[in-house]
Amino acid sequence: MADQHKILLDESEMPTRWYNIVPDLPAPPPPPLHPGTLQPVGPDDLAPLFPMDLILQEVSGERYVDIPDEVQDVYRLWRPSPLYRARRLEQVLGTPARIYYKYEGVSPAGSHKPNTAVPQAYYNAKAGARKLTTETGAGQWGTALALACAMFGLECEVWQVAASYDQKPYRRMMIETFGATVHRSPSPLTAAGRAQLEKDPDHTGSLGIAISEAVEVAAQSEDVKYALGSVLNHVLLHQTIIGEEALLQLAKVGETPDLIVGCTGGGSNFAGLSFPFLREKLAGRIDPVIRAVEPASCPSLTHGVYAYDFGDTAGMTPLMKMHTLGHDFVPDPIHAGGLRYHGMSPLISHVYELGLMEAVAIGQRECFAAGVQFARAEGIVPAPEPTHALAETVREALRAKESGQETVILTALCGHGHLDLPAYEAFLSGRMTDEAVSEERFAAALATLPAVP
Ligand SMILES: *Cc1c(COP(=O)(O)O)cnc(C)c1O
Repeated sequence: MADQHKILLDESEMPTRWYNIVPDLPAPPPPPLHPGTLQPVGPDDLAPLFPMDLILQEVSGERYVDIPDEVQDVYRLWRPSPLYRARRLEQVLGTPARIYYKYEGVSPAGSHKPNTAVPQAYYNAKAGARKLTTETGAGQWGTALALACAMFGLECEVWQVAASYDQKPYRRMMIETFGATVHRSPSPLTAAGRAQLEKDPDHTGSLGIAISEAVEVAAQSEDVKYALGSVLNHVLLHQTIIGEEALLQLAKVGETPDLIVGCTGGGSNFAGLSFPFLREKLAGRIDPVIRAVEPASCPSLTHGVYAYDFGDTAGMTPLMKMHTLGHDFVPDPIHAGGLRYHGMSPLISHVYELGLMEAVAIGQRECFAAGVQFARAEGIVPAPEPTHALAETVREALRAKESGQETVILTALCGHGHLDLPAYEAFLSGRMTDEAVSEERFAAALATLPAVP
């Protein structure tokens, strides 16, 4: 069909395995270290926080992991997700490039996050957990985990970054509708939260602080576990269903991508889309450029250092080797809240160090301009996070127009922006700024990196 917009898969075509890229990489990623002994952490070190099934996935060397039937059953509420050809955007841009976007906004939470929330809740319930704790930045992860906990009969407690808690009441209401409890972070409920409130009673919070609070509470009870919505290997693993579907969908229309673009906060939607394509690239079957896009105000890949650092602010997590701005770095409360993490997934960081992918940083006004252009052409209001990928997609489509090249671009539209409309209002009214982060602020945060020989 020449003018086809959507490329769909039947439920029976949904992939039944997740893909683990680790065994296909030319070198293994550096292990997480125990902050006290500086020795690699073993499964037992992680057991207070995670169920053993997830710990084994975290360290797995197996290329594929079967998706449990119970998880597939929930996935089928919205999966397979559609792949779109952005014909109308191509027309507006006057580009010979062919632009495809994989749309994860069809999930109940409105983003890719349920792809990992559902298996995480499943494995925790199977292991006998009573409650899960977590943090949420923009609110997408809290919504996804609250939903997944409701599906598997678990309680759920969410620490929401204060800036987002205040700006996004609808996210909190949605989380509560799914049955979870929400706290404004930093909160007086934990030692980590109280320490921050003592420093600054009006603290706007950060993901690092909210993680410290959720981890602290989970570590205190045997039947309370912690769930993370990004960054870790098992999260990236669960997200690979996005790329596995996209491979099947592009094959249906006989296309291979020249460029794959995604936004990166902790790296999970980007890895989810790109790792199955990277497998094909490493096998010599295709040769796409794979490019991450991060906000100029929190540029861990393009401006951070590759070093061992804590995943949280209070320094309670294992040390992970990753691109980091320093665990003390508190980004400005930008609108793409899901991209405000001080570090990057260790696995993405490793893939970046191996030279298998590229990264760029873009300011938020250019991103929202692309988001608005996309909405007016394609009819979907994107979440603020994927507008970063769209901005790079637009840049590339205009380069293709210059050169006349029929580049095939694949991007992840990892969520819709229906609960992010105040951000669009800030952009449309001209109130949105591109805050430049001073080199002094970057340097001050990096000075807090732990010393690891
Ligand atoms: C959470 C979130 C992100 C950032 O997380 P990644 O792990 O980098 O994918 C990006 N987009 C949306 C819509 C999100 O909800």
